[in-house]
Amino acid sequence: MRDFETKRLKRSGLSPTVALNAKGIEMKEKGIDVLSFAAGEPDFDTPDAVKEAAIQAILANKTHYTSAAGTVALRRAIAQKLREENGIDTDENCIIVTPGAKLALFQALLAFLEEGDECLVPTPAYPSYRAIIQMTGASYIPVPLKIEEGFHLTRGMLEEKVTDRTKMLIVCNPCNPTGHVLTDEEIKDIAAFAEAHEILVISDEIYEKLIYDGRVHRSLGSIPPIKDRVITLNGFSKSAAMTGWRIGYSAANPVLTKAMMKLQTNTVNCTASFVQEASLAAFSCTEETELMRRSYLQRRDLICDGLNSIPGIFCPRAEGAFYAFFKIDYQGMTAEQLADYILEKAGVLVVPGTAFGEGGEKCIRLSFAADAASLEMAVERMRKIFS
Ligand code: PMP
Ligand code: GLU
Repeated sequence: MRDFETKRLKRSGLSPTVALNAKGIEMKEKGIDVLSFAAGEPDFDTPDAVKEAAIQAILANKTHYTSAAGTVALRRAIAQKLREENGIDTDENCIIVTPGAKLALFQALLAFLEEGDECLVPTPAYPSYRAIIQMTGASYIPVPLKIEEGFHLTRGMLEEKVTDRTKMLIVCNPCNPTGHVLTDEEIKDIAAFAEAHEILVISDEIYEKLIYDGRVHRSLGSIPPIKDRVITLNGFSKSAAMTGWRIGYSAANPVLTKAMMKLQTNTVNCTASFVQEASLAAFSCTEETELMRRSYLQRRDLICDGLNSIPGIFCPRAEGAFYAFFKIDYQGMTAEQLADYILEKAGVLVVPGTAFGEGGEKCIRLSFAADAASLEMAVERMRKIFS
């Protein structure tokens, strides 16, 4: 058969996190003893109020197309949240509700990147940034950060990589996989850089509610000189444990929103109507979100203390999100070799740090959105193979 795949698509690959998650599920189904920490998703169930709202919405026949950008009620609620909690000056005309934040990301990149453009990504980073950038035909330009420096980003690092073709910068705050939460200094640097070079900034804030040790989340979209050039991405997957419902959103100025609507109206049309109704109820689940956050925090400490007690492992405490991203010095192994070794010898499924790009060498990502007993067992199994 002819090779039908486009060059654009050939440049990118399958999502490693999604693929590894599937591998873990398959291994378990085959009865193989594996502890899987590859998936990045809450281990909590969706709050009852959200489930009840969805059932009521279906019974009330909220089963038709909604307006393409999302129901006015939901877009208003999202805009209000962004104004009140994030200081983003927005309204319902600047919001697009999508089936998952991942689709909002896809729309933002496809709408504004093309062949000849360059997109900066501080790494380690969520693998789909690179894959989607490559699908658009643009060049992915990593800005590698160091675990030893707390994954701190400086303006100098960005200036080193900028060219007259740089059109966009993607930041994830808090970061998947490193857990880093941007400091005020970093926010200032990014804003000054984006303003000086007139570039767009994608601010992926999907882990916004999962922040530890009194750190504060600041949205780039609230910074006056760059507010019109920031596309904020968020959703309900992490804050309300709604990964399988597939709902997220983008917030951007009306001109950018109009461009992204070309993709929305010609692809998904709209996000599932009863899921939109249910998501309205998620805004009242602040108590549940806080309980989840506290539980992740306990498990972060459990896994970090455990891993740091193993010689050769350096596991910084995640400042946000629910991933331990740690370095292992063991017989000169690469990240891939380490992940294979851990799976083969300890039956523990993790993601090699290099799946997240430059800066992930000799590193492993382990999701601590998993039960404490499994985390403890994983530490003990790893202690055996690394001692
Ligand atoms: N961005 C990051 C950094 C993520 O980790 C995820 C979750 N996989 C997403 C976006 C997409 O989330 P959603 O489930 O809303 O598509
Ligand atoms: N947030 C998850 C992860 O990073 C889900 C998988 C994905 O969306 O790529 O593992």
